[in-house]
Amino acid sequence: MTFSPKIIFLVILFVSTNVLAVEIEGYPLKKIANNTYVIHGPLEYPNKKNKGFMNNPGFVVTKTGVVVIDPGSSVQVGRMVLKQIKTITKKPVTHVLNTHIHGDHWLGNHAFADAYPKAIIMAHPDMIKRAKAGTAAQWVSLMSKFTEGASDGTRAVIPGKMIDDKHVIKTGGVQFRIHAPKKAHSFTDIMIEVVEESVVFLGDNVLYKRLPRMDDGTFKGNVIACQLAIDLGATVYVPGHGPSGDKNIIVPFMNYLKIIYSEVGKNYEAGMTDFEMKPNVVSKLLDYRNWSGFHEEIGKHVSLAVLEYEADSF
Ligand SMILES: [Zn+2]
Repeated sequence: MTFSPKIIFLVILFVSTNVLAVEIEGYPLKKIANNTYVIHGPLEYPNKKNKGFMNNPGFVVTKTGVVVIDPGSSVQVGRMVLKQIKTITKKPVTHVLNTHIHGDHWLGNHAFADAYPKAIIMAHPDMIKRAKAGTAAQWVSLMSKFTEGASDGTRAVIPGKMIDDKHVIKTGGVQFRIHAPKKAHSFTDIMIEVVEESVVFLGDNVLYKRLPRMDDGTFKGNVIACQLAIDLGATVYVPGHGPSGDKNIIVPFMNYLKIIYSEVGKNYEAGMTDFEMKPNVVSKLLDYRNWSGFHEEIGKHVSLAVLEYEADSF
């Protein structure tokens, strides 16, 4: 079958107007420090209703421009973030920082690459490596599937500059200090300390009122990352998902990880399989029952903790 140029043109027109038609409504913008703002996303998983928006994009206004952290899961979310930035300042976006490989945090880069082609997009070296090796494409199609097409039109703009542990970005009178905990949430993680603002963007090393996928991380490594964040002594912490706050937003998740690992260890030593021990472990985690994702993730978390405990015992 062949298509006439006119039909092809109409199809392209239809697809592109559809992409433009998907707009994310404005979520409240919260000022968390003198020059730092966060848009707290919904807590549920990406779906048709939230159009994939579920993380906490943030930005810092410096003397010379704007530094954006984790601009969301699609070009549409990125445009919503951009629109909100413009309500605060007319300064250009100079940098975009991505905390890790999971696409709900960084596919919004597309909107910023379009609007500010000179902006420097940065991430952990292993994030960049994995994205190029195929994970970027996987996330684009996953997001399209989860949102039933609401994220379509999104192009994976992979960060061009590597930043690793101890790296400090100085721009417009503000220092962004990078902390890269190993083996934490995804093996590609950075946490960003905005020194003058006393703010830390935690990435998914810490979640509050929601549980993460642990498939790409480790429980013990993630506990170390939580402690590292607390030791920074910042005034405000921004988790990857859930409300921002002081260090007390880190403690519950750190305890969750510790409880899972130690309870799984005890039950494992008593000769139980992951399936058998699940009710025992869940009974120690009743405080987390109402966290978003608990029922979806808990079984998997127990199985993953068993594998980690086993590997640690050898
Ligand atoms: Zn993640």
